[in-house]
Amino acid sequence: MGRNYYIDTRGRGEHPVTFTEAVINGLATGGGLYVPEHIPALTLDEIAELAQLPYAQRAARIYQAFDIDLPADTIEALMAQTYGDNFDDERICPITTLNANTHVLELWHGPTSAFKDMALQCLPRFFSASAKQLREQGKLDHDFMILVATSGDTGKAALEGFCDAEGVSIGVMYPDGGVSDIQFKQMATQRGENVQVWGVRGNFDDCQTGAKNVFGDEAFAERLLKEHHVALSSANSINWGRLMPQIVYYVSAYAQLVADGKLGPGDELDVCVPTGNFGNILAAYYAKRMGTPLGMLFCASNENRVLTDFINTGTYDIAERDFVLTPSPSMDILVSSNLERQLFELTGRNAEAIAGWMDDLREQRRFRVDETTFAKVREQFVADSIDNATCLATIKAVFDEHGYLLDPHTAVAYQTAENLRGENPVLVASTAHWAKFGDNVYRALHDLEPGAPLPADVAALSGCELNELIARETGRRDIPRGLAELDTLPIRFDEVIDGGTDDIEKAVTRFLAN
Ligand SMILES: *Cc1c(COP(=O)(O)O)cnc(C)c1O
Repeated sequence: MGRNYYIDTRGRGEHPVTFTEAVINGLATGGGLYVPEHIPALTLDEIAELAQLPYAQRAARIYQAFDIDLPADTIEALMAQTYGDNFDDERICPITTLNANTHVLELWHGPTSAFKDMALQCLPRFFSASAKQLREQGKLDHDFMILVATSGDTGKAALEGFCDAEGVSIGVMYPDGGVSDIQFKQMATQRGENVQVWGVRGNFDDCQTGAKNVFGDEAFAERLLKEHHVALSSANSINWGRLMPQIVYYVSAYAQLVADGKLGPGDELDVCVPTGNFGNILAAYYAKRMGTPLGMLFCASNENRVLTDFINTGTYDIAERDFVLTPSPSMDILVSSNLERQLFELTGRNAEAIAGWMDDLREQRRFRVDETTFAKVREQFVADSIDNATCLATIKAVFDEHGYLLDPHTAVAYQTAENLRGENPVLVASTAHWAKFGDNVYRALHDLEPGAPLPADVAALSGCELNELIARETGRRDIPRGLAELDTLPIRFDEVIDGGTDDIEKAVTRFLAN
C-alpha cells in the first residue's frame, strides 16, 4: 500500500509526498500542483467489469489502482458513505441517452444538485482519514481550516461536505452579486457549527487570487498555528483528493454504456465537458490515460473563452481580456488552475517549462506553449465557445425536442458537442440540475434575451417559487428537495468583505477567534 508518490508540477517541492500528505497540503510546497508519479492502467476487461459493482465500489477499485496510502478496507468504508443515500439516485450518476450518439452523464444527483458533490462528498472523508493517519504517525498535531474560493457551486458543495467534520472548520468566499439567488441561499443557510461564508467585492478570480495570496502568506500561517492551532488547507479543484473522484465517473460511465449495450467494448467515446477551472475535463484525460477508450475531449467554454482560444491557438492570454458575466457562472473564469496539470502531462512532465509558463502568466498575463506541446494539445482536445444567446436557445431547443431540461452549463456543453461532433458518440457531462439556475431557464423557455429583465410578476418570485412555476409549465416534477426547501431556512451568513489579502486574513482570524 502507498507506493505511489505525488510530485510538484513546478519541480520545486522538496520531496515527493504520499497521497494523504497531498490531500492535507492541497497546494504543493513548491507552489505547483501535485500529480501522482504513476498513472495506473486498467485493461478493457477490468473497466467493463466495473459495471457489475455499485458505484461506491467502482470508486474504491480505482483508488486502489492509484495505490493510495490508506488501507483498502478504509477506502471501501469511506466510499460506501460517500456514494450512498446522500444521492437521490442509487446509480449515483445515471446516464440519460437522448439519441444513439448523445449520452448525458448526470453528475448532479448529490446533496447540493451540482457536480461538485461527486468530489466534495469524497474529499472531506479522505481529508479526515488522512489527518487521522498522519496524527497516528506523529506527523501532525494541529487542526485545519479549509479556505475555499467559489464561483457558486463549489462553496455549497464544500460546506455540505465538511459540515461538522471533526478537527476541520471551513470558510467560503464567493463573488458578491456573482451567484444566483438559489446559490446564495444554499450557502447562506448552511447548517453546521464549523462553517463560515463571506461575499467578496469582485469576481471569482479576485476570490481565487485572494485565497492564493492568503495561502502564500507564511507569517499569517505561523500566526494561525501559534494562536489558533490551525493550518489552512484548500478544497479547491487544485487538491488531488478532489480531482481523483472525478476520474471515476468517466471510467464508470464507459463501463455502464458497454453494459447497457449502447457501446461496443473498445468503441471510442468522445467526451464534452463544460469547462471552468479545467478539473472536470482533466479527469476525463486521466480516465483516458488509464485505458478508457475515450476519443477526443471537447472543451466547452461560454463567452469567457480563454480556454477555447488557448486550445485553438496555443497562447493563453488574459492581458486584454475582459471578464464577462454569463448564464453559466461556474464557468466564468479567466485563470484556469488545473490547466497546469494538463500541460505538465502533455510536455512529458517538464516541470521547468511549466514553471516558466506560470511565471509568464503571472508577470505578463499570458504564455505561449512551444509547437510540440501545442501539437499534443491538438491531439487530445478540440474546443468551442457558446455565446449567451445560443446557450439559452439550446435549453429551449433541447426541451422542445426531448422534453429534457438542461441547466445553462450543460447547455453550453450540449451545443459544443453538436458543433464539434465527429463519428463517435459523445458523452456530455451535465454539471448542474436546471433548478439551480431557474431564472435563465425561464428566460430560455420564454424566448427572453440573456440578461433581459423577467416580467415583473416573475421577478417578484423567490428562486424556489420560480422553480415551482417552471415545474408547472414544463411538467417536470424533479426539483431536488435540498433546493425546494431553501425559502424555509433562516439566512445565517450575509457578510461582505473586500478581497485583499489583509481583508481576508482579518475575516479568517475573526472567525477562528469565535
Ligand atoms: C464547477 C463547475 C463547472 C466547471 O468545472 P471545472 O472542473 O472547474 O472545469 C461547470 N459547471 C458547473 C455547474 C460547475 O459547478
